[in-house]
Amino acid sequence: MIDCFDIGGTYIRHGRLKPDGTVAEEARIKTPSGDWPAFVAAVKSCLQASDACPVSISLAGAYDRRTGLARVANIPSLNGLRAEDELAAALQRPVRITNDADCFALAEALQGTGRGKGNVFAIILGSGVGGGLVIDGKLVTGPGGIAGEWGHGPVVDPTAGGTIEGLPPFPCGCGLTNCVDAAGSARGLKRIHTLLSNETLSARAITTGWEDGEQKTSRTVEVYATLLSRALAMAVNLTGADIVPVGGGLSNEARLIALIDEKTRALALARYTEPLVVPGKHAREGGLVGAGIAGRLAFG
Ligand SMILES: [Zn+2]
Repeated sequence: MIDCFDIGGTYIRHGRLKPDGTVAEEARIKTPSGDWPAFVAAVKSCLQASDACPVSISLAGAYDRRTGLARVANIPSLNGLRAEDELAAALQRPVRITNDADCFALAEALQGTGRGKGNVFAIILGSGVGGGLVIDGKLVTGPGGIAGEWGHGPVVDPTAGGTIEGLPPFPCGCGLTNCVDAAGSARGLKRIHTLLSNETLSARAITTGWEDGEQKTSRTVEVYATLLSRALAMAVNLTGADIVPVGGGLSNEARLIALIDEKTRALALARYTEPLVVPGKHAREGGLVGAGIAGRLAFG
């Protein structure tokens, strides 16, 4: 048995890996902010004292296996810590930590839309833009554990295509400007709409307006999908993706994903005759399912 966790800035979700490979959520508690003893106690409260099952964690942050250091902006008590070692010592059991986008990528590659496919480039379109790469069933990580993270780096030209010429640069949380993350996240969609139309709408209201044929939201979605697809087509070329499953909040927007798919395939160098960018099968449960897979690979 392996105890699996999906740990984000808001919630800690817990489940146990079942023999059929599934992990159902059994508990959900608030993530203690900024307090290491409280964080350890919260994780401990989900475990059974009578066993010493290994723990596999999907973490909403970067984890560098080479240095052992975690970078987790939303959970200050974990940030900069040798998180696996510290948790293993505190819990008295083996601990494996995997980035949440990487967990989603593993879930899709081994038990989702990427089953039987070689190069699975799974992307997150939600409050941020992220990704993970699994090749022939093996997670690719690299220095810093950031392989597949296509969201950062100043690659989006705000004047691209002349469609939003004159818009100010998009600042990004990473310190750079005009990152894919700053324009391609749900936050970016809202920001583009505000800049183009001078009105503030939720991401859902924007996509709903577009689906209803409303003019201003339609322009926003066209600009958003164009900017995102240009960057995604480059990432598709780079990874040689066979499939690009989408997780995160925007993965619920089936028509938006279909539009991004169409635009991305039109720009990619390889010829894709089947849908390439698709909603992930584990868009909601990718953290827990992926933690189960990562735990099984690590602990057998
Ligand atoms: Zn950035």
